Amino acid sequence: MTMEKSTYEKPVINKITAGVPSKFGLPVKPKYIAAIDGIAVSALIEKYGSPLFVFSEKTIKTTYADARRAFETRYPKVQFAWSYKTNYLDAICSVFHDEGAWAEVVSGFEFEKALALGVNGSQILFNGPEKSVEDLTLAINHNACIHIDHFDELYLLIELTRKLDKTARVAIRVNMDTGIYPMWDRFGFNYENGEAWNAINRIMLAEKLDLTGLHTHIGTYIMATTAYAVAAAKLANLYMAIHRKFNYWLKYLDLGGGFASKNTLKGSYMPGSETCPSFDEYAEAISNALISSEIPHENLPALFLETGRALIDDAGYLLTTVLANKRLSTGRRSMVIDAGVNLLFTSFWYNLGVYTSNPGSDQVEETTIYGPLCMNIDVVRDAINFPHVKTGDQLVIERVGAYNVTQWMQFITYRPNVVLITSNGNAHVIRRKENLETIKKQESKIEK
Ligand SMILES: *Cc1c(COP(=O)(O)O)cnc(C)c1O
Repeated sequence: MTMEKSTYEKPVINKITAGVPSKFGLPVKPKYIAAIDGIAVSALIEKYGSPLFVFSEKTIKTTYADARRAFETRYPKVQFAWSYKTNYLDAICSVFHDEGAWAEVVSGFEFEKALALGVNGSQILFNGPEKSVEDLTLAINHNACIHIDHFDELYLLIELTRKLDKTARVAIRVNMDTGIYPMWDRFGFNYENGEAWNAINRIMLAEKLDLTGLHTHIGTYIMATTAYAVAAAKLANLYMAIHRKFNYWLKYLDLGGGFASKNTLKGSYMPGSETCPSFDEYAEAISNALISSEIPHENLPALFLETGRALIDDAGYLLTTVLANKRLSTGRRSMVIDAGVNLLFTSFWYNLGVYTSNPGSDQVEETTIYGPLCMNIDVVRDAINFPHVKTGDQLVIERVGAYNVTQWMQFITYRPNVVLITSNGNAHVIRRKENLETIKKQESKIEK
């Protein structure tokens, strides 16, 4: 029997920068991720290349089921609408739609994508400040819920519905002080200064606008559940004011998105997995505010939610390969991996979790992780205690399901394959890696 000789690792002397020991002593062996939903990381990379985005249908479904349970056990009528800009890959949207989610879109492009996926127009919530005449016409013709952002859009809709001789289903987006600063007052109509009430009155007066609901989206990664209680209470006040003045009950109140995911924000002391409120805590705050408001229980509106990142972040992984180990001139350890910030927009906000795919070395050292771009800003982690790795080692970056495969850039390199592991444990490519043809197809040369 031959024994494989273990590889030599050069010893290093480290200044301890990991902070003081906790009550459990110095950190123990770091976690590693060898497989995703039963498929080895090495097998995934061998078949689909590196870097590689991998999504878990199982995780999407369990997360969505948890969110639904939290709200549906506390409130009689709940409807989620999947936030397309958070992740609009067809296969991902389809998982949510198959589970009963409507679509929440913020552009004509996203609206068309939802329609092409077979979503009924009446189950599309159309948000955002950018809606062209063509977009609004499409939305009116499909009987979508148009969430009006500003007075110019309101007047345009009045003009358009007259011209088309059609009624539009509308809601307004309301912005308000919920104790979260800076306040997102650039979207929608303000609650405190009476603008929202003014918009509501103008809509009630317009012949061909059917006011069906009220919407707010107070911000993103909101860790204070109390902010949602304030938002729900303020929408409930408007809902009752509409009833008092017009003897009319709206169909829904839409509390938007913004629930925090378990990612860790840069500069935060505790890991996000410890500080992020559960769906139960958000549901408790919102349902409390609605059911104990002035609204009679028999007239409670449907509660719409447009949760994005909290529903998908955990389901996405980015697999990557170590290209090089490098000592910086200061002696600091760094390494270069084959996935950069062009694929990881959220690395600007989060200290993303990066792990080895095998138990790895016992030597852990503070490390800077660089992406492969020829750009100084391409830093995936500026400081992470990381085991020593070798060129070719495969790593896993977790919680990258939200906003990365929509905000990624084709820059210097091609965008990689995206794979979905379905609930039955099979992997499928849901977006093919780009190639020269993908890029050149959009270009044209000027013939001389
Ligand atoms: C982006 C967005 C969402 C989703 O926000 P998350 O913070 O990802 O939950 C929901 N509604 C609107 C209007 C949005 O713009």
